[in-house]
Amino acid sequence: MAKQKFQSPKGVKDILPEDQKYLQRIQEVFSHIALRYGFDRLDLPVFEETALYQRGVGETTDIVEKEMYTFLDRSETSMTLRPEFTAGVLRSFVQHGMASLTKPVKLWSTGPIFRYERPQAGRYRQFHQLNAEALGELDPVLDLEIMSIAWDLYDALNFKGLSFQINSIGCPKCRPGYLDTLKAYYKKHFDTICDDCKNRIDRNPLRLLDCKNNGCQQIIQNAPMISEHLCEECNDHFTKVKLYLDTLSRPYAINPRLVRGLDYYTKTVFEVWADGIGSQNAVCGGGRYDGLVELLGGQPTPGVGFAAGIERMIFAMQQQKIEVPELQTPEIYFVSIPDAKVQIIKWIQALRSQKIPALMAMGDRSFKAQFREANRRNVKTVIVIGDEELKTQTATVKNMQTSDQQQIPFSSLMTHLVKKEYY
Ligand code: AMP
Repeated sequence: MAKQKFQSPKGVKDILPEDQKYLQRIQEVFSHIALRYGFDRLDLPVFEETALYQRGVGETTDIVEKEMYTFLDRSETSMTLRPEFTAGVLRSFVQHGMASLTKPVKLWSTGPIFRYERPQAGRYRQFHQLNAEALGELDPVLDLEIMSIAWDLYDALNFKGLSFQINSIGCPKCRPGYLDTLKAYYKKHFDTICDDCKNRIDRNPLRLLDCKNNGCQQIIQNAPMISEHLCEECNDHFTKVKLYLDTLSRPYAINPRLVRGLDYYTKTVFEVWADGIGSQNAVCGGGRYDGLVELLGGQPTPGVGFAAGIERMIFAMQQQKIEVPELQTPEIYFVSIPDAKVQIIKWIQALRSQKIPALMAMGDRSFKAQFREANRRNVKTVIVIGDEELKTQTATVKNMQTSDQQQIPFSSLMTHLVKKEYY
């Protein structure tokens, strides 16, 4: 058969061993912060019935219109690979009767997300998110809490140049009036806007403000702003969110054009931007969605949440030269003649069971080659078992940092290694 080489699919990325230290650090920091804020972990399937996302994310969103990985399973049911977390979290909340729990119910999740997007730097077709949702509370303090988790995450990871972009996009009471005004304004400029925007006017007018087309920027700049159309309740809510952010001295910018790509948001929407990651500078985004649980078949339940893209965080950490602890490297490495292997595999097993990372050379290579490998792996201690050592039942223990060597009888080697007396 002809030899065939495979590549990962377009827009899909491996997280290679050299990037794992970032991934682990991010996951570790986030799980601690989530615990501090009283969040419980929820793991969800990577696919759900397509109808859940159609309804939950919104028929006219980019995600549902053109980005979902949808397939028929063997019983002809339409399934979709998870394009975001919120709809699945709320499905689970309703299905498992979590509405009866003490509110707010706080849930965090992590895992892969799938969107058929145009791949570019920082934009992939499979990527990973950290996600948090808090359900059952209208209090704007909860908006602050969600934003604070996001902030604490980036702060704990030593991100520089952080800022919030915030906006309120109103509610079903005040938004329709605003959308009428926005549509009327856009209809006046119909001839100058791009084809996508022509479509958006009736299908998803809020997204007009999100258009990236150069020709539409001036129109967006002069468009009516939702802040001037908010009802009293939304206005009051937004004022409190800003007050709480001021109280904690969080830097934020009010961005009247921030609308976010998903249909379900009400009132507060926000993004966290970080310096140095170029055009895709949002490292996370979220907002309030007070009507969504009901839309997905539950009792009316307000909610607020956010999602952070892990690949984009890793990229930003590398750009900002953020140091992260190295993952544990082997502490002990055995260099030996093949005859010593029976003895060494027993020692290695004993060391690993004491949680000490230990490795041995494979095959039948020269001591020089084995030492080279030990150096490449950055080990702290090399134990040499050659002919002489086997004969005298005494190991040569070499500290790789100081080059000091000691002779230790086999009978006491393990005791000394476990007590870390030689490294
Ligand atoms: P969203 O679910 O669209 O609000 O996105 C939340 C976060 O996920 C963004 O701020 C990004 O950090 C990340 N993200 C969204 N889409 C992608 C993508 N295609 N590739 C990589 N990260 C993404």
